[in-house]
Parts: sequence; C-alpha cells; structure tokens
Amino acid sequence: MDINTNIQYLKGVGEKRAKILNKLDIFTVGDLLRFYPRSYMDWSKVTTITAAPFDSNCCIRAVVNHKPKGAKVRKGMTIYKTVATDGEALIDITIFNNKYAAESLEAGEEYLFYGKVGGNFRRREMTSPLIAPVENGLRIRPVYHQSAGINSKAIEKLVSQAYEVRKDYFVDCIPQPLRDKLCLMEVNRAIYELHFPTSEDMVAEARRRLIFEELFIFQLGLMKLKGNRKKSTPVCIEKDFTDEFLASLPFTLTGAQSRAVGESIGQMTKQFTMNRLLQGDVGSGKTAVAAALIYTVVKNGYQCAFMAPTEILAQQHYKTCLNFFKNTDINVSLLTGSVTAAKKREIKANLKSGETQLIVGTHALIQDDVEFDNLGLVITDEQHRFGVKHRGALSSKGNRPHTLVMSATPIPRTLALMLYGDLDVSILDELPPGRQPIETYAIDTQKRHRAFNYVKKHLDEGRQGYIVCPLVEEGETDLAAAQEYSENISRGFFSGYTVGLLHGKMKPKEKEEVMARFVSGEIKLLVSTTVIEVGVDVPNSVIMVIENAERFGLSQLHQLRGRIGRGQHKSTCILITDAQNDAAKKRMKIMTSTTDGFKIADEDLKMRGPGDFFGSRQHGLPEMKIAMLTDTALLNEANRFAREIIIDDPDFIKEENKNLREGIAHLFSGKYVMN
Ligand code: ADP
Ligand code: MG
Repeated sequence: MDINTNIQYLKGVGEKRAKILNKLDIFTVGDLLRFYPRSYMDWSKVTTITAAPFDSNCCIRAVVNHKPKGAKVRKGMTIYKTVATDGEALIDITIFNNKYAAESLEAGEEYLFYGKVGGNFRRREMTSPLIAPVENGLRIRPVYHQSAGINSKAIEKLVSQAYEVRKDYFVDCIPQPLRDKLCLMEVNRAIYELHFPTSEDMVAEARRRLIFEELFIFQLGLMKLKGNRKKSTPVCIEKDFTDEFLASLPFTLTGAQSRAVGESIGQMTKQFTMNRLLQGDVGSGKTAVAAALIYTVVKNGYQCAFMAPTEILAQQHYKTCLNFFKNTDINVSLLTGSVTAAKKREIKANLKSGETQLIVGTHALIQDDVEFDNLGLVITDEQHRFGVKHRGALSSKGNRPHTLVMSATPIPRTLALMLYGDLDVSILDELPPGRQPIETYAIDTQKRHRAFNYVKKHLDEGRQGYIVCPLVEEGETDLAAAQEYSENISRGFFSGYTVGLLHGKMKPKEKEEVMARFVSGEIKLLVSTTVIEVGVDVPNSVIMVIENAERFGLSQLHQLRGRIGRGQHKSTCILITDAQNDAAKKRMKIMTSTTDGFKIADEDLKMRGPGDFFGSRQHGLPEMKIAMLTDTALLNEANRFAREIIIDDPDFIKEENKNLREGIAHLFSGKYVMN
C-alpha cells in the first residue's frame, strides 16, 4: 500500500463508500491521510461526575448500572435510559434512538462518556454522549469533517487501518537543512500526530510543520511559474505610443493609471513576456489602462484580444473601445455567441488576415477556428471567472503574447501575493477625480417604506435602481422567493414602474436579455438575487436597496454596491437589516463609513478568515488544506526561504532539494497547468 493506492483497497470501502469519500476529495490513501481533523475531543482528561462542568464537553469514566431500557415515545423515536456511577456520584445517561449504542452497554462494565452534562447538582445527566471503552480510550481524539453517509468515527477507523500497514507513506519534501533550521517535525510524524495526537503541544508543532510546508511549496510553485514565464517573447514592442493615445483622451489618467500603463509598457518593450494582474476597484478606470496598452501594441503592428466573461460585458467593452479608438485607424470587432454564422465567418477571416487589430468577445474567442495573424496582447476581464486554463487557451493562439488580467475584486496585498503569485501586479488604488462618493445607510425593516419612497423619488427623476432581494429561507427556493418578492413590489409599491427580475435559475441568455433591457433604460427598477452582473456599467442607476443585509459578507456587499455610483449623479445605498448581533452591526458600520474596497477586504479577511478566498476554486489555484492567510508569520517565513531556494537552486538539482519537485507537482496537479 502506498499513497497512490485507491481508497477502495481498504477494508470496508466499497464502491458506494468510495463515492462518498470522493466527495470529500479523498481518492487515495494519501488523500485520506492528508484529510486532517477539523478539531479534537479531549478524552484524555477525565473529570468526576461531581466536578463535571455544566454545558461544556467533558469526559466521564463510569460504570453502567443496568442495561439501558428502551421506551418508544412515538413513532420512530425510542429513548434508552440507564444510570452510571464513578463510585462517588450517579449520572443519568439518555440515548436517543441509537439502538446500537444502547445495546453495546453492559451492566457492571466501565465506559468513557463524552459530552455535555446537564441536569442539576442533585441529579446530573448526559444526553446522547459519545461512548467508548476505557481501554485505549483515554486520549485526544480527532474530529473529521463528515458528510452524509460517513461519520468522523468511520474516517478515524480508515485512517487507523492505513497506519496498520505502515507509517512512512510520505517523502519529506522540505529540505533537511531547512527542517533543522526551523525545527520542523518530519512529515510522517507530523501527519500521524494530527490523527493520533499525544498532546496539544505536539498537535501545535505538527500543524506548524504542515502549514509551513503548504505555504512554502505553494510559494515555490508560484515563483517557478513566474520564473518560467519571464521568458523572452518574439512579440516585439519597440516604441511606446502612450503619449499619442493620451492626447486623444478626454481626460487625464490618474496617477495610479499612469503607473500601471508605465509598468506594463516598460516590461513589454524589454521583450519579456508580460503576465500582469491589473487590480482595481469598480470604476477605477481599468478599461482606460487596457486601451492605452492596446494602442501601443497595435501601433507596433500586433493584434489584441479582449475577453469578457459575459456577452453583455463584451458588448460594453466593445462600445468603450470603439469610443476610445474612434479617431484612430484601429479596426475593432466583436465576436460573441449571438453573432450570426455568416458574420462570424467574416469576422474570423478578417482576424486571420490581420485586417482586424482588436477583437473583443466572450469565450467564443477561444474556439478552435479563431485564428490570429499576429497576436501580441491578450486581455481578460475576468472578475474571477475564467480559470487559468481559459486564459491560456487564448494566449496559445499567438506566439507567447503578453497578457493582462483585469480583476475588480479588491484583495489585500498578502492575499494577492498568494493568489496571483505567478503574475506581476499593478494596483489602481485611486479613483478618477470628480466621483461622487456613494452614501450608505443602514436601517431596520420598519423604515423600509421610507426607503422605497426614496427609491421612487429617484425613479421619478429619470434614474434607475436596484433592489437586492432577501436570500432564501430554508426550504424555500431561490426562484420562488425572488419571484414572489418582485411580484409583490411590482404590483404593490412600485406599480406603474417597469420592474425587472434577475435570479440565479435563469439561463445566461435570459439574464442577458433582462440586463440589456436595464442597460437600455427600459427597466427602471431591477430586482435581483445576488447575480447582478459584476462589472456592468449603468451610470444612470443611482440607488440600491439591499434586503437582509446582515446575511452578506463585507466583500459581497461592496461588490453589490459597486453597481451604483458610476455616473455624475449622487448615489445612495440602503442596507436593510433587523439583526442586532455584534458582527452584523460591525459590518453595517464598516459599510456606512467607507467605500474603499481594499479597506473593506482587509476587514472582511479579519472578520471571516480567508476561507472564502481559498474555499472557492474559481481562481484555479490549489486549495490550502491547513494553512490560513492569517498565518502571516509563517507566510513570510515561507516566502523568504522559498526565495532563497529559487535563487540558490532554481531547478532543484541539489540532493536536498530534489523532493521539492514532487511536492510542487502534487500540490498543483490537475488544478494548475505548470508552465
Ligand atoms: P473599471 O473597469 O475599473 O470599473 P472603467 O474603466 O469602466 O472602470 O471606468 C469607469 C469610468 O471612468 C468610465 O466611464 C471611464 O471612461 C472613466 N474614466 C476612466 N479613467 C478616467 C480618468 N482618469 N478620469 C476621468 N474619467 C475616467
Ligand atoms: Mg469595467
């Protein structure tokens, strides 16, 4: 048995159970052992019944008086009761509906009971405790994430089974000298310790080792990617035409925009392939930066491709580009799924011949039959939606073209370093002048009426607005809730106004239709679940109401709010919530006091931890199993030593470094294309 042995090889794992394990991302024995416990139960410290604290978990060691007696209280519910003693006091043990657990208890035998003690000082009780024999039971036990069909105990058993065969499954990929220097536990010992802890301190040490490993390998992998990409390219950008382009603009660039343009052009003219992330809050002017780069690249004789995640965004960028380049001889065309076949043929022919210099589109652009004459720059406006693969597919249509990825999700710097470590980063941290800041208020549901009146006033002045409707209650479907809500308001309060509805169950085509009607101004008020297209620019919409605001995270609220405040009119965002808890109050306070996306992202990270960023796979990077971005000290250490190794031995040729290759390959395998 080795780390690559299929999980089905273990006793007790058939096809069905394997499927369940697969859902937890466990396919091999290695995956199983790397499935670290979520938390621990301390069964090593036994308390007496008298000393047991109320309402927090503890472990009691007691002898069972008599075999539990079952009483059927109603259909499908049997309660088993017995009494146990530790020689000093008695405790009632109640077991709900678990015949197996109840019958395993024998009169006169001693067991460990783990759970919360209730009752009162005269008569204590434990309800549905976890039960284990005393022998081998006095230890810290792991608690695993479980899913339907497999519980924590079953996973513990499988892990034990794997360890019965051997204990040295893993090669340690951290170089020995580094391990010595940082006093890091050997890998197999660390992993074993997490599953079968000897003490809390040892668990902490094991975790430190594994977190370091994860961050270290991850950073090394990204550095290698970056290094590999810093290759020369045949795309030859010799001359910088930025000044010429800027002269044609109706505005001057912000400092941040100029910096981003300068950094990009500087890199391209040096004949290194540019791979850059352009990060900036909504409205910070990313498109203008993109246009400046396009201008220079086209003037140097190359083509550019600009890909957006949806049709409506592609159209928007197309229009913007037409406008930017209207006084130039740059040919711009648009390729999306909805273009007719004949027209598509024509567009593709012009692209192939080089007649078209800038093509804007959706992922229609990455189809096989789209060919370029000489592609020099690929821009993706991805808002976290294209994976690395799509980006790569478009690039491969040229000969090592430059790439620019635009993202409107503000990410704190430490996080950007992690997520986009393979890219250079330019940040637009400054808004163009003259923007009216969005005013934000938090109110309770009693004032909803007034909020709606305020919305009406804006609609009457010819503006448009959004209502983000409540998230669903349990049992309700997203669709039904949104539909009901929108019908209610369009028949009631907003009758006489054109109200549109956008929800998650709509087909992309339907969504785009509704969005197009909103963009054109036909729909005055758009009721929506959280699916409002990120990045859609409707400067005329100036008011937004968010229902159940407490249910959204800070970054999400910020993203939603970014749909307004995009034109010359003052915009207002109204958060409706009745929540009184501290966390909700704090979030509302942050939202009403700042519109700075980076500040909000930082707060969000502090309040929630990085789970959201790492939890989702959308960014196409490997998931962290154990590390958190709040482990900044370890993150910095990992970064420092990764750098040292990359400088000292970039190809991992030294004996002590040779396992790094495998570590990186494994972490990134399947989920990230190396090079
Ligand atoms: P983003 O894509 O970052 O959300 P956009 O590029 O769509 O932002 O820009 C938002 C608006 O601001 C556009 O109407 C654009 O023309 C305008 N804009 C961009 N840069 C400037 C600037 N430096 N000065 C004034 N207006 C600008
Ligand atoms: Mg934009």
